[in-house]
Amino acid sequence: MKKDQVIFDLINKEEQRQENGIELIASENFVSKQVMEAAGSVLTNKYAEGLPYKRYYGGCEVVDEIETIAIERAKELFNAAWANVQPHSGAQANAAVLLAVLNTGDKILGFDLSHGGHLTHGSPVNFSGKLYKPFFYGVEEQTGLINYQQLEEVALREKPKLIICGASAYSRDWDYAFIRAVADKIGALVLADISHPSGLIARGLLKDPLPHCHIVTTTTHKTLRGPRGGLIMMGTDFENPWGLKTPKGEIRMMSSILDSAVFPGTQGGPLEHIIAAKAIAFGEALSDEYMDYIVQVKKNANAMADALVAKGYKLISGGTDNHLMLIDLTNKNITGKLAEETLGKADITVNKNMVPFDKRSPFVTSGIRVGTAAITSRGLKESDMLLIVDLIDDALINNANESLLEELRTKVNNLMAKHPLYK
Ligand code: PLP
Repeated sequence: MKKDQVIFDLINKEEQRQENGIELIASENFVSKQVMEAAGSVLTNKYAEGLPYKRYYGGCEVVDEIETIAIERAKELFNAAWANVQPHSGAQANAAVLLAVLNTGDKILGFDLSHGGHLTHGSPVNFSGKLYKPFFYGVEEQTGLINYQQLEEVALREKPKLIICGASAYSRDWDYAFIRAVADKIGALVLADISHPSGLIARGLLKDPLPHCHIVTTTTHKTLRGPRGGLIMMGTDFENPWGLKTPKGEIRMMSSILDSAVFPGTQGGPLEHIIAAKAIAFGEALSDEYMDYIVQVKKNANAMADALVAKGYKLISGGTDNHLMLIDLTNKNITGKLAEETLGKADITVNKNMVPFDKRSPFVTSGIRVGTAAITSRGLKESDMLLIVDLIDDALINNANESLLEELRTKVNNLMAKHPLYK
């Protein structure tokens, strides 16, 4: 077969874009070469519906070993009692959990998307808001912190069957014990979606949801630095027989209900090439090298937050406990949309983001979200964060000055040339 040069030229172009720029999108990271190698391996050829050693296809003896290693490493990394490594993405992991524990029309309580939550936590444009009846809690306007009082009030009033915590744009830690206590008052289940901070949680830099939340989901490609994908886990509640009764009256363990909700509930064949890449990434995340990395992610986020505040930028909640921060640009007289476009011209990639109580639409927004997971993988340290904040500030102040943005782009490219993506 002739090599498809059109696509490979575009892949090379994308590699150059990643190589040259400062990547501040909080949900992105750069995987290791071995993770990428596994993701592009012959395993993509294999069908393996079912679970290890219980498949609907022949020839699965090798992928059975690989998937078992991935499961065991995920359990070790998060100190989980049970894991399913098959979800194709974070949204798929959440879809499986909701299918497993809810009936259509059941009430759910999630963190408001416009305050930093995720689409799959009840947004009306997502299956989670269409098939179930969503209620929301948000942050306090003054502090930017989760309004736990509101969470409790809505939970006690509406009695949702499931409470979801976790976020896409929240820079502080969560009080999982409090949320579980609220859930216990109404007999609700708790799902913690730790997609963003899972790497920090795995290595003990943030509170652990597994002792408190019935089910935990995560993506594998953000701070965890694995291939794009999802993961579902259970901790302390694994042993609880709070499963469904089968027609014969037997209690089914929730883990088995969750397994069935992934396949055949919401997915077909698992992506064994991605599962192999997940296994490698989990192994990497257990290493001392990753520990140094994730500690640096947090140090860099703190350094960046301090530098932004020193330049008069308003951070929601005033700072960060994790790898990201949400910047409210209202006082800087620039929209999130224009900020994203301007920084893009200087090869600094961010995403526009609604801020809590935003008066602008999601297409314009008043803020941007930035994170340090990717640039830390490039080897950048605290002193570089100060430099990056200077570059951001210069670009935003001079957003109409094309020649200055061009100069800033050269500075960005020179900085990143010192930190090659794949040496
Ligand atoms: N959950 C949260 C909290 C997220 O931030 C994201 C992605 O940004 C997802 C779920 C969905 O992950 P995916 O894009 O892999 O479906």
